[in-house]
Amino acid sequence: MNDQLQRLSDLPLREDLQGKSPYGAPQIDVPVMLNVNENTHRLPPEVHQAIVNAVGEAVAGINRYPDREFAELRQALAGYLGHGLTRENMWAANGSNEVLQQILQAFGGPGRTLMSFPPTYSMYPLLANGTGTTYIAGDRSSDFTLGAREAADQVRAAAPSVVILCSPNNPTGTALSLDIVEAVYDAGRDSNTIVIVDEAYAEFAHAGTRSALTLLPGRQRLIVSRTMSKAFALAGARVGYLAAAPEIADALRLVRLPYHLSAITQATALAALAHAPALLAHVEDIKAQRDRIVTELTAMGLSPAPSDSNFVFFSGVEDPGAVWRALLNEGVLIRDVGISGYLRVSAGTEAETTRFLTSLRRLLGT
Ligand SMILES: *Cc1c(COP(=O)(O)O)cnc(C)c1O
Repeated sequence: MNDQLQRLSDLPLREDLQGKSPYGAPQIDVPVMLNVNENTHRLPPEVHQAIVNAVGEAVAGINRYPDREFAELRQALAGYLGHGLTRENMWAANGSNEVLQQILQAFGGPGRTLMSFPPTYSMYPLLANGTGTTYIAGDRSSDFTLGAREAADQVRAAAPSVVILCSPNNPTGTALSLDIVEAVYDAGRDSNTIVIVDEAYAEFAHAGTRSALTLLPGRQRLIVSRTMSKAFALAGARVGYLAAAPEIADALRLVRLPYHLSAITQATALAALAHAPALLAHVEDIKAQRDRIVTELTAMGLSPAPSDSNFVFFSGVEDPGAVWRALLNEGVLIRDVGISGYLRVSAGTEAETTRFLTSLRRLLGT
C-alpha cells in the first residue's frame, strides 16, 4: 500500500485530493453483517421473481439507450411518496450518493461551500471534495443534538451554497424536528442556500414523525433526498431519488451523464415499487429489532441514542475498539464510526440481532 501511495503521489492528482482517503466501511464476509445499515432481509420470493422478469424484459431492448428521462420511474416514485408530488418533482440517480453529488455539481463546486453538522454521514465531506466544493463543519451540542436557533445562526453566519441536514441522522439515528429544517431554510434566504434533507432512513421513523416532504410546497430551494437502499432492501441496485421543485431537476439535467440510469436499474426499481407493500413489510420487523436493541443495551447499562432509523448508536463500553474486534472474532460485524467512545449497530433480522446481543452480553459479562 505504501508503495502504491508513493506511486499515486507521482501522478498529477488535483491538489485538493492529495492525501485524502476514500470511503472505506470494511466489507468483511462474516455470518452477521450489521455495519452499513443494509436491510438484511432477503427480498420476498414474489418480489425477487418480479424483478427478474422485469430485468429479463429490459434485456430484450438493451441494444438501445434507456429512457434518459426515466419518466415511468419518476412517476412511480412520485406515486410512492404521495404528498401531491408529480413526476416533475422527482429525480433519481445511482444511489442517493449520486443524487447528492449531482446537486453539488450543479449548486456547489469551486468557490462554493457545503455545510453539514457532524457527527453526520461521512460521505458529505467526501462528496464536497470530489466536486471541488469547500466543506464547512457546523457544530452540534455535546450530546449531538441540534437546535433550530443554533443551526440557523450557523447557516446565517456561514452563508453556505448548500446545507445538508440528515434526518434521521446517521450515525446518531435521531430524527430532526421540522422546525430545524424551516429555520435553516429561512436562514439561507439571503445567501440563496440550497437545503437538502437526507431522509435515507425515513421509513424507519417512529409513527407520527413528519417528513420534510410536507415542507416542499412554496420552498424552491428545499430538496428531500431518499433512497431504495435501506427500507426497500435494494442497496445492490443503486437507486436514490429526490423530491423538489421541478426546476431543481432542470438544474441536475445540466450535470448528469447521458442515460445515467441504466435500463436494468430502471426496470429493477419499477418492479420493486410495484411491490412496495410486500417489500416494506420487513420495515416493521426491523423497527421492532431496533427498539429491542435500545431496550437491551439500556438493560446492559449502556447508553443508546434514541433511534428513528434501522440502527442504534451507543456509548458506555469502556473500550469500543476492543469490543468491535471481539464481536468480529465471533462473526458479528458492527461499525466503529470513528467517534471516540461510541459504536453503531444496524438492526438485523431477529436471529442476527440475537447473535449480536448475546455476544455483546457475554463480552461485557452482564
Ligand atoms: C445509507 C445512506 C444513504 C444511501 O446511500 P445510497 O447511495 O442511496 O445507497 C444516504 N444517506 C445516508 C445518510 C445514508 O446513511
